[in-house]
Amino acid sequence: MSTDHGAEPARVVLATHNRHKLVELRQILAGTCARVGVEIVGLDGFPDAPEVVEDGTTFAENALLKARAAAGATGLPALADDSGLAVEILGGCPGIFSARWSGRGGDRANLELLLDQLRDVRDEHRAAAFVCAAALALPDGRSVVELGRLPGSVARAPRGDGGFGYDPVLVPAGQPAGRARTLAEYSAVEKNGISHRFLAFRALAPHLKELLTR
Ligand code: IMP
Repeated sequence: MSTDHGAEPARVVLATHNRHKLVELRQILAGTCARVGVEIVGLDGFPDAPEVVEDGTTFAENALLKARAAAGATGLPALADDSGLAVEILGGCPGIFSARWSGRGGDRANLELLLDQLRDVRDEHRAAAFVCAAALALPDGRSVVELGRLPGSVARAPRGDGGFGYDPVLVPAGQPAGRARTLAEYSAVEKNGISHRFLAFRALAPHLKELLTR
Protein backbone atom coordinates (compact mmCIF):
# COMPACT_ATOMS: atom_id res chain seq x y z
CA MET A 1 0.00 0.00 0.00
CA SER A 2 1.36 3.45 -0.84
CA THR A 3 0.56 6.67 1.00
CA ASP A 4 0.47 10.34 0.11
CA HIS A 5 3.88 10.48 1.84
CA GLY A 6 5.38 7.68 -0.22
CA ALA A 7 6.53 6.12 3.09
CA GLU A 8 5.51 2.78 4.61
CA PRO A 9 2.17 3.32 6.36
CA ALA A 10 1.94 3.05 10.16
CA ARG A 11 -0.32 0.22 11.27
CA VAL A 12 -3.42 0.90 13.35
CA VAL A 13 -5.37 -2.10 14.61
CA LEU A 14 -9.17 -2.27 14.59
CA ALA A 15 -10.35 -4.28 17.60
CA THR A 16 -12.41 -6.81 15.68
CA HIS A 17 -12.15 -10.21 13.99
CA ASN A 18 -15.08 -9.24 11.77
CA ARG A 19 -13.87 -8.87 8.17
CA HIS A 20 -16.93 -6.79 7.15
CA LYS A 21 -16.25 -4.22 9.87
CA LEU A 22 -12.64 -3.96 8.71
CA VAL A 23 -13.64 -3.39 5.09
CA GLU A 24 -16.31 -0.84 6.08
CA LEU A 25 -13.93 1.12 8.30
CA ARG A 26 -11.21 1.16 5.66
CA GLN A 27 -13.75 2.77 3.31
CA ILE A 28 -14.89 5.33 5.90
CA LEU A 29 -11.34 6.35 6.80
CA ALA A 30 -9.75 5.94 3.35
CA GLY A 31 -9.01 9.66 2.90
CA THR A 32 -7.60 10.10 6.41
CA CYS A 33 -5.48 6.96 6.14
CA ALA A 34 -3.94 8.14 2.86
CA ARG A 35 -3.23 11.64 4.26
CA VAL A 36 -1.81 10.47 7.60
CA GLY A 37 -0.03 7.41 6.22
CA VAL A 38 -1.97 4.73 8.12
CA GLU A 39 -3.00 1.17 7.28
CA ILE A 40 -5.86 -0.36 9.30
CA VAL A 41 -5.44 -4.04 10.15
CA GLY A 42 -7.74 -6.43 12.02
CA LEU A 43 -7.02 -8.51 15.13
CA ASP A 44 -6.68 -11.74 13.14
CA GLY A 45 -2.90 -11.37 13.01
CA PHE A 46 -2.77 -11.15 16.82
CA PRO A 47 -3.92 -14.52 18.20
CA ASP A 48 -2.86 -13.56 21.74
CA ALA A 49 -5.21 -10.58 21.94
CA PRO A 50 -7.62 -11.37 24.80
CA GLU A 51 -11.42 -11.47 24.56
CA VAL A 52 -12.66 -8.29 26.24
CA VAL A 53 -15.44 -8.40 28.82
CA GLU A 54 -17.67 -5.50 27.76
CA ASP A 55 -18.73 -4.51 31.26
CA GLY A 56 -18.92 -0.75 30.68
CA THR A 57 -22.21 1.04 31.27
CA THR A 58 -22.16 3.18 28.10
CA PHE A 59 -21.25 2.75 24.43
CA ALA A 60 -18.25 5.02 25.02
CA GLU A 61 -16.94 2.98 27.97
CA ASN A 62 -17.24 -0.28 26.03
CA ALA A 63 -15.55 1.14 22.93
CA LEU A 64 -12.68 2.43 25.10
CA LEU A 65 -12.35 -0.93 26.89
CA LYS A 66 -11.94 -2.68 23.52
CA ALA A 67 -9.56 -0.08 22.06
CA ARG A 68 -7.34 -0.03 25.19
CA ALA A 69 -7.20 -3.83 25.34
CA ALA A 70 -6.21 -4.03 21.66
CA ALA A 71 -3.54 -1.32 22.07
CA GLY A 72 -2.15 -3.16 25.12
CA ALA A 73 -2.08 -6.54 23.37
CA THR A 74 -0.59 -5.36 20.07
CA GLY A 75 1.54 -2.34 20.98
CA LEU A 76 -0.21 -0.48 18.14
CA PRO A 77 -2.64 2.44 18.15
CA ALA A 78 -6.06 0.80 18.27
CA LEU A 79 -9.55 1.67 17.09
CA ALA A 80 -12.77 0.13 18.41
CA ASP A 81 -16.47 0.76 18.27
CA ASP A 82 -19.55 -0.14 20.24
CA SER A 83 -23.04 0.44 18.94
CA GLY A 84 -26.71 -0.36 19.31
CA LEU A 85 -30.27 0.86 19.06
CA ALA A 86 -31.58 3.35 21.65
CA VAL A 87 -35.38 3.56 21.84
CA GLU A 88 -36.68 6.70 23.59
CA ILE A 89 -39.76 5.25 25.25
CA LEU A 90 -37.64 2.40 26.62
CA GLY A 91 -35.29 4.89 28.27
CA GLY A 92 -32.54 4.25 25.70
CA CYS A 93 -32.79 0.43 25.70
CA PRO A 94 -31.86 -1.98 24.17
CA GLY A 95 -28.78 0.34 24.05
CA ILE A 96 -25.61 -1.45 25.13
CA PHE A 97 -27.70 -4.65 25.45
CA SER A 98 -28.77 -4.57 21.77
CA ALA A 99 -26.92 -7.73 20.73
CA ARG A 100 -28.40 -9.76 23.62
CA TRP A 101 -31.84 -8.15 24.08
CA SER A 102 -33.62 -11.53 23.81
CA GLY A 103 -30.90 -13.42 25.66
CA ARG A 104 -29.09 -15.65 23.20
CA GLY A 105 -31.82 -15.60 20.55
CA GLY A 106 -29.87 -13.63 17.94
CA ASP A 107 -30.79 -10.76 15.61
CA ARG A 108 -34.27 -11.93 14.56
CA ALA A 109 -35.38 -12.77 18.11
CA ASN A 110 -34.05 -9.42 19.39
CA LEU A 111 -36.02 -7.53 16.78
CA GLU A 112 -39.23 -9.51 17.39
CA LEU A 113 -39.02 -8.95 21.14
CA LEU A 114 -38.58 -5.22 20.58
CA LEU A 115 -41.61 -5.07 18.25
CA ASP A 116 -43.66 -6.97 20.84
CA GLN A 117 -42.65 -4.55 23.57
CA LEU A 118 -43.67 -1.60 21.39
CA ARG A 119 -46.90 -3.14 20.06
CA ASP A 120 -49.23 -0.66 21.79
CA VAL A 121 -46.97 2.39 21.35
CA ARG A 122 -48.38 4.99 18.96
CA ASP A 123 -46.35 6.12 15.92
CA GLU A 124 -45.47 9.51 17.42
CA HIS A 125 -43.83 7.82 20.42
CA ARG A 126 -41.64 5.34 18.53
CA ALA A 127 -38.52 7.55 18.22
CA ALA A 128 -35.20 5.73 18.30
CA ALA A 129 -31.62 6.14 17.12
CA PHE A 130 -28.71 3.94 16.21
CA VAL A 131 -25.78 5.12 18.31
CA CYS A 132 -22.09 4.34 17.85
CA ALA A 133 -19.09 5.21 20.00
CA ALA A 134 -15.76 5.11 18.15
CA ALA A 135 -12.60 5.03 20.26
CA LEU A 136 -8.90 5.46 19.56
CA ALA A 137 -6.37 4.32 22.17
CA LEU A 138 -2.59 4.63 21.95
CA PRO A 139 -0.15 2.27 23.69
CA ASP A 140 1.10 5.25 25.77
CA GLY A 141 -2.34 5.59 27.41
CA ARG A 142 -3.78 8.51 25.46
CA SER A 143 -7.29 7.93 24.18
CA VAL A 144 -10.27 9.70 22.66
CA VAL A 145 -13.85 8.71 21.91
CA GLU A 146 -16.51 10.23 19.63
CA LEU A 147 -20.21 9.45 19.16
CA GLY A 148 -22.31 9.14 16.01
CA ARG A 149 -26.13 9.04 15.92
CA LEU A 150 -28.60 8.04 13.21
CA PRO A 151 -32.07 9.18 14.36
CA GLY A 152 -35.35 7.64 13.24
CA SER A 153 -38.32 5.64 14.49
CA VAL A 154 -39.22 2.00 15.00
CA ALA A 155 -41.51 0.56 12.29
CA ARG A 156 -44.52 -1.62 13.20
CA ALA A 157 -43.19 -4.63 11.24
CA PRO A 158 -39.82 -5.57 9.68
CA ARG A 159 -39.23 -4.57 6.03
CA GLY A 160 -36.28 -5.13 3.69
CA ASP A 161 -33.55 -7.71 3.16
CA GLY A 162 -30.40 -5.60 3.50
CA GLY A 163 -28.19 -4.87 6.47
CA PHE A 164 -28.33 -6.79 9.73
CA GLY A 165 -29.57 -6.55 13.32
CA TYR A 166 -32.34 -3.99 13.80
CA ASP A 167 -32.05 -2.51 10.26
CA PRO A 168 -35.44 -3.93 9.14
CA VAL A 169 -37.29 -1.90 11.82
CA LEU A 170 -35.37 1.39 11.92
CA VAL A 171 -36.86 4.08 9.66
CA PRO A 172 -34.30 6.90 9.35
CA ALA A 173 -35.72 10.39 10.01
CA GLY A 174 -36.28 12.98 7.29
CA GLN A 175 -37.89 10.79 4.61
CA PRO A 176 -40.99 11.69 2.57
CA ALA A 177 -44.25 10.69 4.35
CA GLY A 178 -45.77 7.52 2.94
CA ARG A 179 -42.54 6.49 1.19
CA ALA A 180 -40.26 6.05 4.18
CA ARG A 181 -37.92 3.05 3.96
CA THR A 182 -36.35 1.03 6.74
CA LEU A 183 -32.58 0.87 6.83
CA ALA A 184 -32.78 -2.69 5.48
CA GLU A 185 -34.28 -1.15 2.30
CA TYR A 186 -31.26 1.13 1.82
CA SER A 187 -28.33 0.01 -0.31
CA ALA A 188 -25.08 -0.66 1.56
CA VAL A 189 -23.54 2.44 0.00
CA GLU A 190 -26.48 4.63 1.06
CA LYS A 191 -26.43 3.24 4.61
CA ASN A 192 -22.68 3.63 4.95
CA GLY A 193 -22.98 7.30 3.98
CA ILE A 194 -25.34 8.18 6.88
CA SER A 195 -24.75 5.50 9.49
CA HIS A 196 -23.96 6.05 13.16
CA ARG A 197 -20.65 4.21 12.57
CA PHE A 198 -19.78 6.50 9.65
CA LEU A 199 -20.56 9.61 11.72
CA ALA A 200 -18.62 8.39 14.79
CA PHE A 201 -15.48 7.44 12.85
CA ARG A 202 -15.67 10.57 10.72
CA ALA A 203 -15.66 12.58 13.97
CA LEU A 204 -12.70 10.51 15.17
CA ALA A 205 -10.66 11.04 12.00
CA PRO A 206 -9.17 14.46 12.97
CA HIS A 207 -7.98 12.94 16.29
CA LEU A 208 -6.33 10.10 14.41
CA LYS A 209 -4.47 12.66 12.34
CA GLU A 210 -3.53 14.77 15.38
CA LEU A 211 -2.45 11.93 17.69
CA LEU A 212 -0.51 9.98 15.09
CA THR A 213 1.41 12.86 13.59
CA ARG A 214 2.69 14.27 16.91
P1 IMP B 1 -21.75 -3.93 17.76
O1 IMP B 1 -21.38 -3.09 18.95
O2 IMP B 1 -21.38 -3.33 16.47
O3 IMP B 1 -21.32 -5.35 17.92
O4 IMP B 1 -23.36 -3.96 17.73
C1 IMP B 1 -24.15 -4.48 18.78
C2 IMP B 1 -25.57 -4.75 18.31
O5 IMP B 1 -26.21 -3.52 18.00
C3 IMP B 1 -25.66 -5.60 17.05
O6 IMP B 1 -25.69 -6.96 17.36
C4 IMP B 1 -26.98 -5.14 16.47
O7 IMP B 1 -28.04 -5.82 17.11
C5 IMP B 1 -27.05 -3.68 16.87
N1 IMP B 1 -26.54 -2.81 15.77
C6 IMP B 1 -25.41 -2.05 15.80
N2 IMP B 1 -25.25 -1.40 14.63
C7 IMP B 1 -26.30 -1.76 13.87
C8 IMP B 1 -26.67 -1.42 12.52
O8 IMP B 1 -26.01 -0.67 11.79
N3 IMP B 1 -27.80 -2.00 12.08
C9 IMP B 1 -28.57 -2.85 12.83
N4 IMP B 1 -28.26 -3.20 14.06
C10 IMP B 1 -27.13 -2.66 14.60
